[in-house]
Amino acid sequence: MSSFPQWLAPCLQQVQALKANRGLSHALLIKGADGVGQESLASEIVCDLMCESDQGAACGECHSCKLMKADSHPDFRVLDGEAGTIKVDQVRLLTRQISQKPQVGQNKVVFIPHAQAMNLNAANAVLKALEEPADGTYFVLTSSQSTSLLPTIRSRCLLINVPMPTMVEVAQWLDQQADGQALSSLFWLTTQPYRLLAIQQQQKVALYAELPGKLNAMLHGSISLNELLKGLDSKNIDDYCHGLEAILHQSICHSTGAKLDEALLPIYGTLMTRLGIQNLLLRYQSLQKLKSDLQKTNLNPIMQLTHELNQW
Ligand SMILES: [Zn+2]
Repeated sequence: MSSFPQWLAPCLQQVQALKANRGLSHALLIKGADGVGQESLASEIVCDLMCESDQGAACGECHSCKLMKADSHPDFRVLDGEAGTIKVDQVRLLTRQISQKPQVGQNKVVFIPHAQAMNLNAANAVLKALEEPADGTYFVLTSSQSTSLLPTIRSRCLLINVPMPTMVEVAQWLDQQADGQALSSLFWLTTQPYRLLAIQQQQKVALYAELPGKLNAMLHGSISLNELLKGLDSKNIDDYCHGLEAILHQSICHSTGAKLDEALLPIYGTLMTRLGIQNLLLRYQSLQKLKSDLQKTNLNPIMQLTHELNQW
């Protein structure tokens, strides 16, 4: 728990207090912006709910807590929307599975991260389950687009709003992670803490960290375009596009007075000299179009990005 994010703690304490006082709703919807950690908060809450003790927080010692740690609790089910659309058959199977009495403790929990991925039929099946709550059965949903959920689902849930962390909170939390320093140097790309963590887990820190410097070197002619795009393939084309887009976006914002991350100062000077603000805006739009085209069609990513960067 030492690295449990500070900005999530008040939400967790609120739920633990309700649980300890036996006043917790059987349905929770945890909402917040992408990458602020609603899934992490939900995972803690889920463990607390599965614990057999009467206290708010999970004891870590009981049979249920041990089964949760081993990822093998028979009364806990996950339906993750990150993998794709959640369909009605999946919900029906799951509600059948949890309609039995708990096998281990008092409670059963259904965890639905990225709940916006439920299609209408799946959402209606979840709504039905929420309307007829079985004793000791909890639904924990998370969403970064909660307004796209059925209003009838939202109104049945206790809403928990995850706040945006401050830059100081994010920096302090990153300090406790491996490679925290390197991740803090990517604030020009994003300040969403869990997005930064995902970049680290995907081993893409170097790809992003080196991009502004390499781009600058390429525009000054000290490395070739081929060297800049060395390692580019269809699996990481999105990362290159995101990185370049962030560089252009930050530069455009800075030209209208916003503060610029130190890491982008050299490339900002180069881009303004070569392109000027009008062309910077054009390149930004062109890059966005390229990103959307690459998702829709089978274009050769290296050829497309080479063509784009030749115009910088
Ligand atoms: Zn326990």
